[in-house]
Amino acid sequence: DDPGNVKVVVRCRAFVKREREKGTQCLIRMDPGSQKTTLLAPSDLDIAQANARKVYEDKEFTFDKSFWSHDEADPHYAHQEDVYRSFGEEFLDHNFDGYHTCIFAYGQTGSGKSYTMMGTPEQPGLIPRTCEELFERIQQEPAQNTNYHVHVSYFEVYNEHVRDLLVPRTNPPMYLKIRESQTDGVYVQGLTEAEVRNYADVERLMKMGDMSRTTASTKMNDTSSRSHAVFTIQLKQIQHSLLSDETIERCARMRLVDLAGSERAKSTEATGQRLKEGGQINKSLTTLGRVIAALADPRRHGKGGRRPRDIVPYRDSVLTWLLKDSLGGNSKTAMVACIAPSDYEETLSTLRYADQAKRIRTRASVNQDCMS
Ligand code: ADP
Ligand code: MG
Repeated sequence: DDPGNVKVVVRCRAFVKREREKGTQCLIRMDPGSQKTTLLAPSDLDIAQANARKVYEDKEFTFDKSFWSHDEADPHYAHQEDVYRSFGEEFLDHNFDGYHTCIFAYGQTGSGKSYTMMGTPEQPGLIPRTCEELFERIQQEPAQNTNYHVHVSYFEVYNEHVRDLLVPRTNPPMYLKIRESQTDGVYVQGLTEAEVRNYADVERLMKMGDMSRTTASTKMNDTSSRSHAVFTIQLKQIQHSLLSDETIERCARMRLVDLAGSERAKSTEATGQRLKEGGQINKSLTTLGRVIAALADPRRHGKGGRRPRDIVPYRDSVLTWLLKDSLGGNSKTAMVACIAPSDYEETLSTLRYADQAKRIRTRASVNQDCMS
C-alpha cells in the first residue's frame, strides 16, 4: 500500500471578455515561491454596498501548487502544458506502475474546469494530453514482452442519472444502472468501454462525448454546469516472462472528472426554480461535500483509530458511490480547484473546500495479478 494525501492544486483563470470590459478588479494573488494563494477583500464599492452586512477580509491558503493562469505576460503564467507537466505526467507514471488515479476539477461555473480538463483544440487540457502521452509511451518503448490494452469510457451524471456519452442520444434518454460486485467494485452496468489503439481513436471518442454533452446543454438550459462528466481510461499491461514463464497482468484505471458548477451545491439553489426543473440536481455535489468532510475529519486519522467506514456517506449519491475508491480508497487522487479572478464569495467557498480536501488520505496499491 502507498498511503498519501490527496494532492490539491489551485488555478486562477484570466478575465473573460465581459470582466475585462467592466474593468473588473482581480482579487487573487499567488506567490510562486511559497505557493501561497491569497484572496483579497474586494475594495469595489458596488460589491461592498450590495452586501453591506457581509464581512470581507483577505484570506490566505497554501496548496501543493498554485497555477497562475491569469496574466499571460507574467513570467509565472501557467500554460496548459505547465499544468500537465506538473502533475498530469506524474499521474500517468502511476498508471504505468499499476496504480489507479483520479483527477477531478472543482469550481463554480465559468472558473475553468472544462478548460483545464478538456481544453480547446488549440489549447488541449489534461485529458487529451494524458491520452496522447499514454500512446506515445506505449509506442516509443515497446517492451518486447508486454501487451497493452487501452479502453475508454465517458459518462455523465445528471440529476442522479448516469448517461453514456459514447452512444447517440435517444429520446427518451437512456439511463444506466450502477452495480456493485465483489470482484469489480462499483460500476456502471452496460457502459460502453471502447477499445482504443491510438490517440486518434481517443480523440474521436472525446469529440463524440463532448458533442453529446453540449447538444444537451443548448437544449436543456446549460446541462454542462449541472452535470458531472467522468472520462475513464483503463490501461491493462500483460507482461510475459519467457524466463520464468510467468504472466503478470497490471490493470490501472484513471478517472478524469469535470464536476458540475460548485454554486450548485448551495442550499439556496434548492429552493428556487432549479428544484422544479430537476429535483435532485445538487445531490451528487452536496454529497461530495459531505464525503470530503467526513474523509477529512481528523478523528479518522487520530489515535482513536479510524472511524467506522459507514460514516462516509458514499452511497448517498450516484457520483460519490461511483467515485468511492477514487475519493477515499485505492487511488492516487488530485483535485484541481478552479477559481475565477473576481468572485470573492464563490472563490472563498472553493478555496475552503480545497483546503479540506488536502487532509484526505488514500491508500493506493498496485493492481497486479500473477499467473503462471
Ligand atoms: P467551467 O467548465 O468551469 O464552467 P470553462 O472551462 O468553460 O469553465 O471556462 C470559462 C471560460 O474561461 C471559457 O471561455 C474558457 O475558455 C476560459 N478559460 C478558462 N480557463 C482559462 C485559462 N486558464 N486560460 C484562458 N482561458 C480560460
Ligand atoms: Mg464546464
